[in-house]
Amino acid sequence: MSKVYDVIIIGAGPGGLAAAIYGGRSRLSTLLIEKGQDGGQIAITDDIENYPGQIVDGESGPSLIKRMSEQVEKFGAERVSEAVTSVDLNGDIKTVKTAQDEYQAKNIIIATGAYPRSIGCKGEDEYKGRGVSYCATCDANFFEDFEVYVVGGGDSAVEEAMYLTKFARKVTIIHRRDELRAAKAIQEKAFKNEKIDFMWDSVVEEIGGEDMLQWMNVKNVKTGEVTKVEADEEDGLFGLFGFIGTIPNSELFDVEKDERGYIKTDDNMHTNVDGVYAVGDVRIKSLRQVVTAAGDGATAAVQVERSLSNYF
Ligand code: NAP
Repeated sequence: MSKVYDVIIIGAGPGGLAAAIYGGRSRLSTLLIEKGQDGGQIAITDDIENYPGQIVDGESGPSLIKRMSEQVEKFGAERVSEAVTSVDLNGDIKTVKTAQDEYQAKNIIIATGAYPRSIGCKGEDEYKGRGVSYCATCDANFFEDFEVYVVGGGDSAVEEAMYLTKFARKVTIIHRRDELRAAKAIQEKAFKNEKIDFMWDSVVEEIGGEDMLQWMNVKNVKTGEVTKVEADEEDGLFGLFGFIGTIPNSELFDVEKDERGYIKTDDNMHTNVDGVYAVGDVRIKSLRQVVTAAGDGATAAVQVERSLSNYF
């Protein structure tokens, strides 16, 4: 506990990993704390085609993250695999407590990302892992040759629906409006995919089944009509994947946030607390992508370095 790091980075998604690469390379004493696997949401994303340089066929989120983690190691950041339980951001020396230990640093970079929002239908909690999922990469293979439904209309929903067509017999996207939010290039691919169908202006109200997910009531928000969707008799179940956005992992941090919990920063990733920065999906920003998270991480680490060298 006696060591005071220059910077502790909490979270090893693309933002945290980029900060650790820049921190280590600038010879800052850097500690990266991650409770699970590296990569955050990208670790469960199959296809990444818009990260600059990521054009090798068959490359995925995990393969990109693996290289980033190797780069962190190369530049010498220390790492621990522990869950942060509390932080004290006051004063010049900040304290981070985990279930196992306590760490101190002059600066903190919050890179804790966000987690998937629940679909919000009746019965959802009961059928998690029994038909309901929020991760195609994790669970698609359970639905080999079954029918699958995807809720959402953003980039995640449409991209993950396309991934699911590699396994499922048919994938139906249920979207609450009559046009997708996803980028046009992603939409075009989905519209061309013969295995993808759409239920427009629709929301899932209730789901159920004996043991596994077997039926759901889907309401048309324009007409009010409720359709009962039932599993094919021979299948006996179907899959329901939710991709309707995210909620920030920001609860632990006493910094300024918006009404949804996203952390406010300036252009240089400073929060309203001296020596505390936020990067990636956990902060308020207009574009949540690997490339912008990595850019945030680099910016924050350089800010730390400059503040420690009294560069300002
Ligand atoms: P998102 O862009 O916020 O889209 C969420 C989708 O879910 C929207 O279509 C929204 O409908 C719908 N939705 C929200 N709340 C709902 C509710 N209660 N019931 C039913 N539907 C609901 O989230 P995302 O797709 O997870 O993407 C998050 C960020 O990551 C975005 O910035 C996205 O661009 C980025 N991303 C990029 C890529 C890529 O570039 N390859 C891939 C994945 C994610 P409305 O459209 O009606 O609001």
